[in-house]
Amino acid sequence: MNAAPAPAPVVELRGVTKAYPGGVHALRGVSLAVGAGELLAVVGPSGSGKSTLLQVVGTLDRPTSGTVRVAGHEVGALTDAQVSALRARHIGFVFQHFHLAEGASALDNVADGLLYAGVPRGARRARARTALDRVGLGHRLGHRPSRLSGGEKQRVAIARALVGAPRLLLADEPTGALDSASGRTVMGLLRELNAAGTTVCVITHDPGIAESLPRRIRMRDGEIVSDTGAEIVSDTGAEIASGTGVEASGEVR
Ligand code: ADP
Repeated sequence: MNAAPAPAPVVELRGVTKAYPGGVHALRGVSLAVGAGELLAVVGPSGSGKSTLLQVVGTLDRPTSGTVRVAGHEVGALTDAQVSALRARHIGFVFQHFHLAEGASALDNVADGLLYAGVPRGARRARARTALDRVGLGHRLGHRPSRLSGGEKQRVAIARALVGAPRLLLADEPTGALDSASGRTVMGLLRELNAAGTTVCVITHDPGIAESLPRRIRMRDGEIVSDTGAEIVSDTGAEIASGTGVEASGEVR
């Protein structure tokens, strides 16, 4: 009997660079593979390229050079409309400052997460209710963001991200604006999502959070300088390192 082929990575970057006008090189040749079901932290100093990496992985921005594959699709080969569809179907986002619509209820904020997925309005609201239940906010459906605490706002944002059942959830400093108890709740939700099968990437400055995640990628000056897990794929597709569970520096930060 043949062994089943290894599943394709959910995210695969090869030789990705990103230059901004004015000569800023935010990414300088990043190669990275993230497998289905991984939970990883992206750490590194401010300005090291973490958010740019997340934007490129999340198809919100296109790289200057190199290839990006998400859920098996080569993003560079897709039209903008196809990229939007790929994003709507497969990727959820959570940001530090929530990015909720202030004038809309929690329910509508979450239901709007399905606007581009072609789901009819009634079904959007039903699924939004289920998602808000899942993050423990079933009793806050009609609340606007101004009447929610920071932790509750981030739970609404997580419900909005998960309502489309994405394969990949990208979180940029999701606990950065929260007190530590709310931050723990938010990380607990991200772990639950991961346990249910979603691949989760979290940018964090919090060493405690980074240490608690199974894989850590450290960036500096637009490059990945250490990676505790899974494989790094070279520009030619050859595997050049496989996870040892130990960072190159031996540090666990
Ligand atoms: P981090 O998330 O690690 O703080 P970023 O990815 O935000 O790093 O930024 C990496 C570098 O790219 C920084 O020098 C930043 O100033 C620059 N940068 C980020 N976004 C833009 C942009 N839209 N235009 C110009 N420069 C940018």
